[in-house]
Amino acid sequence: MELTDLKALTPLLERHGFHFSKAKGQNFLIASWVPERVAEESGADEKAGVLEIGPGVGCLTRELAKRAGKVLALEIDARLMPVLAETVGEYENVTVLNEDVLGADLGSLVGEHFAGLSPAVCANLPYNITSPVLTKLIGSGLFGTITVMIQREVARRVCAGPGTADYGAFGILVDFYYHTRILFDVPPDCFEPRPKVTSSVIRLEKRDRPAADTDEKLFFRLVRAAFNQRRKTLVNALSSGFSGRLEKAQIARCIAACGFSETVRGETLSIREFAALTDEIGRALK
Ligand code: SAM
Repeated sequence: MELTDLKALTPLLERHGFHFSKAKGQNFLIASWVPERVAEESGADEKAGVLEIGPGVGCLTRELAKRAGKVLALEIDARLMPVLAETVGEYENVTVLNEDVLGADLGSLVGEHFAGLSPAVCANLPYNITSPVLTKLIGSGLFGTITVMIQREVARRVCAGPGTADYGAFGILVDFYYHTRILFDVPPDCFEPRPKVTSSVIRLEKRDRPAADTDEKLFFRLVRAAFNQRRKTLVNALSSGFSGRLEKAQIARCIAACGFSETVRGETLSIREFAALTDEIGRALK
């Protein structure tokens, strides 16, 4: 059965009494080139254990099953379990669990299902939980590569560089641990139901070591403080962010010690520059 063909998909879903849920971010792919290309770009091979989030009716799951050593698919919607039993049940290297990725213990799942394999992620993510899912996947430190389809605007934020409107704390978090790349766009007419926005497929490849050698907790505190009030100068944004712990004059000295102008804004600083400032602020806090 061609899962991306509406003529096959519609009767399949009707037979199982399934209706799309907007709250669960259900937009299923109906263009066969997309799951094929996403699976191919993920680089999954027989040495890979691939975690798929939200298999839907299983079109991407099938493409991954053909390439990967093992596929573990987590689907929150219990109504899709009998559908998936029908569409991907024949693949011995696929396990589908009725589980919410945000509540899942990823370390245990990877240990249990991917022994001897290199863990990776490949998914068409539900749009409403893109940031918490990516934050969880990255924070787990478990996955060598993460290839996901997300909204184009979010993809731009993940992959943005300093000085651009899209640059922010979320992109810096991803970039700190992973090399980021936008691969290609997917138009709304490739989905049922049709979303309002264009999607992009991005690929994240884990860095051998984080982008900067610094106190990570303090680094992210500083980055968040800088972007919480991104239109303010850095010295003012950090004065609010570190109020009660550092005087404005101390922050100004740290900024000057890094060689930045006193009117610099956080949105123009690279990761390395934020890391240099983290080291200065860390010394001032002692
Ligand atoms: N992979 C399918 C495709 O490409 O056609 C479906 C993708 S659809 C954008 C997102 C899928 O994620 C849906 O099947 C939805 O039920 C599922 N989902 C939503 N929230 C989830 C969660 N928290 N954990 C696991 N799956 C979730």
